[in-house]
Amino acid sequence: MRSLSTRALGALTLTGWALSAAAQVQPPQPTAVLFENVRIFDGVSERLSAPSNVLVAGNLIKTISIAPIAAPPSMTLSRVQGNGRTLMPGLIDAHTHIMFETLTQETMLVSDLAFIAVAAVKGANDMLMRGFTSIRDFGPAFGIKRGIDMGLVPGPRIWPSGAMISQTGGHGDFRLPNELPAAPGSFHFTERMGASAIADDADTVRKRSREQLALGATQLKLAAGGGVGSDYDPLDVTQYTVAELRAAVEAAQNWGTYVAVHAFTPRAVRQSIEAGVMSIEHGHLLDDATVKLMAEKGVWWSMQPFTDDTPTTFREGSAKRIKQIQVYDGSDASYALAKKYKVKLAWGTDVLYSADKAAGQGKMLSKMVRWFTPAESLKMATGTKAELLALSGARNPYPGKLGVVQEGALADLLLVDGDPLANISLIDDPAKNFLVIMKDGKIYKNLQK
Ligand SMILES: [Zn+2]
Repeated sequence: MRSLSTRALGALTLTGWALSAAAQVQPPQPTAVLFENVRIFDGVSERLSAPSNVLVAGNLIKTISIAPIAAPPSMTLSRVQGNGRTLMPGLIDAHTHIMFETLTQETMLVSDLAFIAVAAVKGANDMLMRGFTSIRDFGPAFGIKRGIDMGLVPGPRIWPSGAMISQTGGHGDFRLPNELPAAPGSFHFTERMGASAIADDADTVRKRSREQLALGATQLKLAAGGGVGSDYDPLDVTQYTVAELRAAVEAAQNWGTYVAVHAFTPRAVRQSIEAGVMSIEHGHLLDDATVKLMAEKGVWWSMQPFTDDTPTTFREGSAKRIKQIQVYDGSDASYALAKKYKVKLAWGTDVLYSADKAAGQGKMLSKMVRWFTPAESLKMATGTKAELLALSGARNPYPGKLGVVQEGALADLLLVDGDPLANISLIDDPAKNFLVIMKDGKIYKNLQK
């Protein structure tokens, strides 16, 4: 009893501290914002609307009208003059690693967690300032998500998966060769920091899955095949058995959510689909039959537009660089297959270990016009992407409509100085072209002041 009440007291104190800290950090916000005279890209339609007015009340889009909208009584109203500019949904990235985005891998492996977290806090703010209001994150982002949601620091909404669950020698095994064999019960630094979780049988996969769900995972991530940034696994290898993958799928389904897997090859993907996996991350080396199967099963293809001009952090000629080129070479064929079979396609960046690459997040989206129209590309990062986030079901931390400019939707909005449907490269330079950035009804950037 005594320890329970001490713990309860501790929790209360913590909550009180957090609330007062949040109150200090957050500027007072108007309770309603009226965007006047904007053309709307709504995340669904491929054309801009007629000049319109959009009223945000609290954290929701309340009214959209071509007629003037009266100020709501009993609400402090601030106005944003659109002057015919474009209002669009905040951008959504389907594949991020917010904790590992900007520091090099070498720095990460020898740094303490506080330093890594400080870099990630800055990265989260930078990401919001690039217009990204939602991310599906594959890493230990529980703490940073909590801080952002409490208003301690600015950043996007986060759907965290926590540690990547991996077999020994798999894509999530970052132990050095001289650390193998590992002593029973020992955990490597990457496991202690929550980046990876090594599990080599179905029961351990189940346990590691349940741990991530307990910590707040909104979906699980497993490594089901070889990866670029890991030392032990060639791209062609398949990781886990169907039974092992199924253990994670069952744990996720019992929690009301789903499993995403890292996989490039047909064999790894087919095995994952057989186990009930709902999202394939990467998949740049797939064949016709496998993509057709994905379409039939309604499995999402979360791909990244890697091409030979994508900056690399790997040394030329190194094993990782050779694997990376193999993946990059697969992008053109992959997008062609995705179109051919009309697979549910999600756009994402998968930036790791590079502040320069992170800064180019918008460019990774605008380059999609190599394969798609600007409207198709922008929808992939807004309206249709929200359907993928909704797969988290009961574990979705932000219920409500996202990725669209519609009455009743959550107010994540960008005011763009120009028409991104006509000139998608506007999103390459968010500092200049995103005049207003709003998340959850709050304005985080306003160049119109
Ligand atoms: Zn990744």
